[in-house]
Amino acid sequence: MRILISNDDGIHAPGIHALYDAVKDLGDITVAAPDTERSAVGHAITLSDPIKCREVEKNGEFFGYAIGGTPADCVKLAIYSLLDEKPDLVISGFNLGQNVGISVIYSGTVSAATEGTILGIPSIAISLCTFTEPIWETPQKVIRTLIERFKTTGLPPETLMNVNVPNIPFDRIKGYRTTTMGRSRFEEIFHKRTDPRGRAYYWMDGEMSLYDGQQDTDVQAVDEHFVSLTPLWFDLTHYQVMDEFRGGWDGIPKA
Ligand code: MN
Repeated sequence: MRILISNDDGIHAPGIHALYDAVKDLGDITVAAPDTERSAVGHAITLSDPIKCREVEKNGEFFGYAIGGTPADCVKLAIYSLLDEKPDLVISGFNLGQNVGISVIYSGTVSAATEGTILGIPSIAISLCTFTEPIWETPQKVIRTLIERFKTTGLPPETLMNVNVPNIPFDRIKGYRTTTMGRSRFEEIFHKRTDPRGRAYYWMDGEMSLYDGQQDTDVQAVDEHFVSLTPLWFDLTHYQVMDEFRGGWDGIPKA
């Protein structure tokens, strides 16, 4: 099995090394990840600058490609140029911090997996729901279980799996739950400060409102100590309102 690994926290982040260690004996692993942290860049790609790529070693051995680009750049470059053959699976992670609710829109972790899906490769994004004291053993066990299932079940076409793992010891995980992308989002606050030249600048901060009030959301599952599995795709069309649009908008006279 050929597995391509990427992330948005950068090639030196502990999470990608934990992911690599978890899957390294399962096949041919290639790591292609941003050279620095690129969290919350969404699905951005680099068009107006060259994309640098250098080989990174770990313990004296080749570990992977550090790429001066976004997570989507990394997956594109790996599949089009760095790899001799297409991978069987793309895994993006382990992200430090959940990718649930509206955060999914901004997530570089999810975008690396989305890029894999666009290019026709089954893809998984996996995040650990904490910013402090990560218990990497839990997503390590989860991803091995998911890969084992993937070998028999596969993923539906054009579907990526967004996985969120509660930051608790593996034996306290209650199981796996299929979820929807909820509507939880950060309530942002902009701190206004003054720079040394007397000009105002702003720094975004925020707090996640953790509960949607719906039963089957990603946030709810994680709250209840389940691993959240959300099927996502890249078609942003809102199919439920197509008829409303057809009746109400496309009959407008040209002028
Ligand atoms: Mn990140």
